[in-house]
Amino acid sequence: MLDTLKKYFGYDSFRPMQEEIISTVVGGNDALVLMPTGGGKSLCYQIPALTMEGTAIVISPLIALMKDQVDALRINGISAAYFNSTLDNAEKAAVFSQLQSGELQLLYLSPERLMSDQEYFLNILKDEKISLFAIDEAHCISQWGHDFRPEYRKLSKLKEHFPNVPVIALTATADGKTQADILERLNLTTPKSFVSSFNRANIKYTITPKHDSKTKLLDFLETQKGNAGVIYVLSRKSTEALANFLNSYGFNAKPYHAGMSREDRDANQEAFLKDKVDIIVATVAFGMGIDKSNVRFVVHMDLPKNIEGYYQETGRAGRDGLKSEALLFFSRGDVMQLRGFIEIEGNDEQSNIMLEKLNMMVSYCESRKCRRQFLLEYFGEQHSGNCGNCDVCLTDYETFDGTVIAQKALSAVVRLKESFGVSYVIDFLRGSKSAKIKDWHKEIKTYGVGAEHSKKDWQAYIQNLIDEDYLQIDGGKFPLLKLGKKATAVLKGQVAVELIRPEKEMKEAVESTEELFYDSGLLVALKAQRSELAEEEGVAPYLIFSDKTLLELAQYIPLEFNHLERISGFGSVKLRNYGEAFLSCVQSYAREHGLETKILQKPIPRRRKEEHKKRTKRTDSAHLSYDLYLEHRDVSDVARMRNLTEGTIEGHLLAFVESGDLAVEDLVSEESIIMIEEVLASIGSNERLSLIKSKLPANISYGDIKAVLLKGKKN
Ligand code: ADP
Ligand code: ZN
Repeated sequence: MLDTLKKYFGYDSFRPMQEEIISTVVGGNDALVLMPTGGGKSLCYQIPALTMEGTAIVISPLIALMKDQVDALRINGISAAYFNSTLDNAEKAAVFSQLQSGELQLLYLSPERLMSDQEYFLNILKDEKISLFAIDEAHCISQWGHDFRPEYRKLSKLKEHFPNVPVIALTATADGKTQADILERLNLTTPKSFVSSFNRANIKYTITPKHDSKTKLLDFLETQKGNAGVIYVLSRKSTEALANFLNSYGFNAKPYHAGMSREDRDANQEAFLKDKVDIIVATVAFGMGIDKSNVRFVVHMDLPKNIEGYYQETGRAGRDGLKSEALLFFSRGDVMQLRGFIEIEGNDEQSNIMLEKLNMMVSYCESRKCRRQFLLEYFGEQHSGNCGNCDVCLTDYETFDGTVIAQKALSAVVRLKESFGVSYVIDFLRGSKSAKIKDWHKEIKTYGVGAEHSKKDWQAYIQNLIDEDYLQIDGGKFPLLKLGKKATAVLKGQVAVELIRPEKEMKEAVESTEELFYDSGLLVALKAQRSELAEEEGVAPYLIFSDKTLLELAQYIPLEFNHLERISGFGSVKLRNYGEAFLSCVQSYAREHGLETKILQKPIPRRRKEEHKKRTKRTDSAHLSYDLYLEHRDVSDVARMRNLTEGTIEGHLLAFVESGDLAVEDLVSEESIIMIEEVLASIGSNERLSLIKSKLPANISYGDIKAVLLKGKKN
């Protein structure tokens, strides 16, 4: 399994649970997998699809995503296809013939396609060898989820038709009720459930008052220059307005919503996927169809309807595991508006569920609990809080006696007859000379009593007073500041009010992911290289390599071909197709800038500890080489460490190959083995080594050839 992972995806180790899930499916058992977005669900069915006999059928509701996923697989040398309405007849026929010839490892279908009334597709599949069914976005089958889709219901028949084919259901969002519902609806046989941690440690959660949100947004975007991000807004109209606004400030933004023409929508999405547009301003319609791994930030300008949706949307940031931001602008004004939407949405039972979910969303925003802890507990997971990477944990809350401040604010609200919004009340309190303030208001005694506090501080105090029920926001479109439940006692001077001192500076975020020190010029060059290749292949750049791969290249500066294998993301096909291009990009940059390789600093994951056990006695020196090799998996590294030639180290290792302690495949890549075997087959294995070597690429060493020759002898 590890070999398959390395060969096809270029990764060295599994993430938590992946291995167990894969074994379960390969063993023919059903599984339910809950993992957050970006957790690595796809590999849980893709690796079984690659190792099991037959075609894996992947059910996904997101037609727009299918092409992307299939492209990503093909680029790794995997035989995959999708079948949906975007294909023309000739393409459809081609997929059928691929399916029937048994060459497809994975086939992507929508649920309605598979379970159509005539059961046309189902019957075709019955004649084929099916390795497994993977049901993506499995929460869509349950009414308890937040994204119920009736067409998923028919999937309950799947097990009747294919009782012996394992089913793996996957979702990023399902509370306990929904999980039980999924298992029941799909009729899974003794399924194993895998619930991985939902923590997305690389995402920093921040919630900030919505007041003055555009200025705050510009400040935030200034820190994200050149990064890709999604900004969610509630209405279609505001997507366009905000995109225009951002463009006028020199940002590169495009709108996206369901009301746009299909061409415009696709063009904007495409431009975003291809790194040609930095920011997409979208309604929630956007994102279901994208898999872009280098999204650095997600902003919610308006309140999401529920925590599930919010978590899924924020989860689109940082799939590559690098530091990312989730920023939400919160205002109680939004709550009213959303309530209206939700109530007309459907039946009573359903709208009650939705209202409850909205209330939880509001509690989340108003809570002073660690955001991560709140979110994880919502999904039924323990977290001790104090994550060091959310606004609550990064803010020093210091309280002080704010009774006088509260009295000033509350009496201003009374004087203004509860008929004005927050910013008017603040201007009034600060004695603003603005013409916006009505003349007769300037005559009132309370006018200007709060001039000693800045506008920003007043915003914080008022938010604080709202949070504590001394004030409230009322009204949909133009929210008004009104007295809250606990106001009277304050106005009468009966209680003291504790306020939180507005934060001065946020502490720097604690580093939660490994910080990569990389050469930024090299990164730019690598990105250009990636775009060029992507253009040639007609795919999105992140499908060629993730940002993580480019960062590692810019950090470790591999200067030899065989060092590329150590960079995350270089599977064998990508190594062959793109290795040279990226290597020469790194090499020429390193030459120009006098950089040296740092590849030896890259930690190597330990593999196959059991090999240590079954070793036999050899000379001490050979043994040392062998041990070092098991740890570092690179002959030239071992040579450098031991100050011996590579040839000597190879000699040491060959003894272990001969004794069977080391498999040839351990020493030589599968690809090299194939190439060597081909040369041996054509010119014979008794030829001089130098002649054999001359027929092979330079990166294949004498040691590699000798190892393969040994293999030949043993067979
Ligand atoms: P999900 O479907 O759960 O949202 P994906 O399957 O798209 O997540 O995986 C997110 C990213 O993590 C992808 O870029 C994927 O290639 C990468 N990934 C998955 N498993 C591993 C692993 N074991 N090692 C390194 N990267 C991985
Ligand atoms: Zn926290």
